[in-house]
Amino acid sequence: MERLESHSSDVGGLPIRRALPNRGRRSIGAWVFLDHAGPADLNGRGMNVAPHPHTGLATFSWLIEGEILHRDSLGTEQLLRPGQVNLMTAGRGIAHSEESRSERLHLAQLWIALPDEARFCAPAFEHHPTLPRRAIDGFDIVLLAGEWLGRTSPVSTWTPMLGADLSCEGAARTVLPLRPLFEHGLMALEGELRVNGETLVPGELLYLEPGYESLDLRTRGPARLLLLGGTPWPHPPLLWWNFVGRTREEIEHFATEWNTLSGDFAGVQVSGYAGERLLAPPVPPISNR
Ligand code: MN
Repeated sequence: MERLESHSSDVGGLPIRRALPNRGRRSIGAWVFLDHAGPADLNGRGMNVAPHPHTGLATFSWLIEGEILHRDSLGTEQLLRPGQVNLMTAGRGIAHSEESRSERLHLAQLWIALPDEARFCAPAFEHHPTLPRRAIDGFDIVLLAGEWLGRTSPVSTWTPMLGADLSCEGAARTVLPLRPLFEHGLMALEGELRVNGETLVPGELLYLEPGYESLDLRTRGPARLLLLGGTPWPHPPLLWWNFVGRTREEIEHFATEWNTLSGDFAGVQVSGYAGERLLAPPVPPISNR
């Protein structure tokens, strides 16, 4: 077991806690990026992320409170509401914008790395208005991705993985099965929990290496937990800005094509967004070693 601290950052004016990538850990299964925002009052400022590109990943947005308007270069315009998931598969290239449409916001936004055979696929978008739920021992469990507890999430995945949101309104205790072939990550989103005897509060990510067969959860009050899992990724992919690739040359190619709207980004634009798109900054020396 390993405890990782998330670091503070800012996305489109919204303060966030970034738990992945982390100095101590690059991925949990195919989950390579994890931002947690809120629960927070936006005080009239709001989140406004101008059109920007992605490659080689799927963005996964899980909304707990508030409303977010998503627009992308496929022509999608989708309002995301509490209890819903947006999954945007970038494949060889997509662009999107995100704007809050509410006074309060609570959100987890993740990236799923695509395996080699899928990373240049055609871009796609999925909106999931409802997800499988189970009530167990006082916990309300929403299955976000994968198969668990006899339920299967409708959200597309490319490699064996798990995502679940577990919340309770008061003191609760349960023991749930885990797949020992998976590594797991647990992020407290609200309240304080005990996970297999370890205390966990918001801002912390607890990493469980493969081999765990169960999860022992206890809370003394209201709490919410995000559970991620998957088979360990053999070679962590290279992440830079909004791109996932394998080499620096490849990332530079993606950045050039986006900035000049050529190649896979020829004609890629987000209609309906009032404002300029974000351009990729110069690519620094980077490597995934
Ligand atoms: Mn994005």
